[in-house]
Amino acid sequence: MALIVHKYGGTSMGSTDRIRNVAKRVAKWARAGHQMVVVPSAMSGETNRLLGLAKELSPASSSPALMRELDMIAATGEQVSVGLLAIALQAEGLESVSYTGWQVPVATDSSYTKARIESIDDKRVRADLAAGKVVVITGFQGIDEHNNITTLGRGGSDTSAVAIAAAMKADECLIYTDVDGVYTTDPRVVPEARRLKSISFEEMLEMASLGSKVLQIRSVEFAGKYRVPLRVLSSFTAWDIDINEEAKSGTLITFEEDENMEQAVVSGIAFNRDEAKVTLLGVPDKPGIAFQILGPVAEANIDIDVIIQNVSHDGKTDFSFTVHRNDYQRTLELLEKTVAPATGAAKVMGDPRICKVSIVGIGMRSHVGVASKMFRSLSEEGINIQMISTSEIKTSVVIDEKYMELAVRALHRAFDLDQPAT
Ligand code: ADP
Ligand code: ASP
Ligand code: MG
Repeated sequence: MALIVHKYGGTSMGSTDRIRNVAKRVAKWARAGHQMVVVPSAMSGETNRLLGLAKELSPASSSPALMRELDMIAATGEQVSVGLLAIALQAEGLESVSYTGWQVPVATDSSYTKARIESIDDKRVRADLAAGKVVVITGFQGIDEHNNITTLGRGGSDTSAVAIAAAMKADECLIYTDVDGVYTTDPRVVPEARRLKSISFEEMLEMASLGSKVLQIRSVEFAGKYRVPLRVLSSFTAWDIDINEEAKSGTLITFEEDENMEQAVVSGIAFNRDEAKVTLLGVPDKPGIAFQILGPVAEANIDIDVIIQNVSHDGKTDFSFTVHRNDYQRTLELLEKTVAPATGAAKVMGDPRICKVSIVGIGMRSHVGVASKMFRSLSEEGINIQMISTSEIKTSVVIDEKYMELAVRALHRAFDLDQPAT
């Protein structure tokens, strides 16, 4: 008997028929003798719908008071899902009970809309499992020390599932979704993308942080920290396929490098449309200038991603960086009103229509010329690179948003990702 955590995403929970299917699949696992904890997301479209209602009433605000209410509202989507799934499981003849984040409780910090899980008390859940029940727990949400409801950021149900699996030392956490595993890139953008049988934890971490939303990055961080056996697989196979076959399907996240395996230089391509670029022109090039520019940005709680500073001419330089697109207007205002006057910059410019495309692979550690191959392939498509950022196992470029799909396809081909793995 094993303790297994299943997570089902919004599309997998998208209708009562689909919820019935989820219940049948979970029932199959329970009847095979496993203790089952299930973490579903809100039904597809529901979180957007709920947040849309709030936006109708207050389009511009991002005050802490408003953020608190956003979490209050968004958390209800998952509450509906757990209740429906518990009913569907009962209809399958299983004993089942559902809990929201605060009932478990899943304790988080107080950063509304992007809270971090601090601890999970599994007493109540363990007692139910011991009594033979299937326990259904909301994804995406928790409670802070003042009993406020919090949510974990978009895609956060992945993190709930892995954190619960970690806290309960589950034997495995299975992330069921609308594709049958992790692909070399988003199969919706590149139809030739291939499913990876396994992917190293480090590569998955980079892919997630660079925009592959198949797993929320914090879920990968949890899996790494607590060594949670983690697999991504399809919820759209027939629910009654052989359980042993199902258990081996999809993509396994691995923690040990297999030295015998021929390692592809590039394993995957990620992209992210959520960023915007801002530039300060003609700033005096002198010690402390980067801090004078980025200090106020950090103080305003705006995350910075790629940064570039040009060589100076006549003691002046240009300084660009990217921020999340949601923070674009706020950043421009801050630069215009505060930073430009304080630094003596000549002009502030911005471009929200950019994207970041990245190649990822642990094979990049031991190969040279990977980045230049990337740049060549983009130049052959006539794509201008605006910014570059590299680390040991990834190279990212910022380009015009309109070339995103072209760039991803070209790189996918250039690095032979559409060829069967050797
Ligand atoms: P869920 O609702 O199940 O959490 P998501 O929409 O959050 O599902 O994540 C699954 C989606 O992630 C897929 O439908 C796919 O379009 C997208 N995706 C992006 N990059 C990848 C990738 N490298 N491999 C697989 N799917 C990817
Ligand atoms: N329902 C939440 C969202 O849409 C959480 C999730 O699906 O993981 O972001
Ligand atoms: Mg998701």
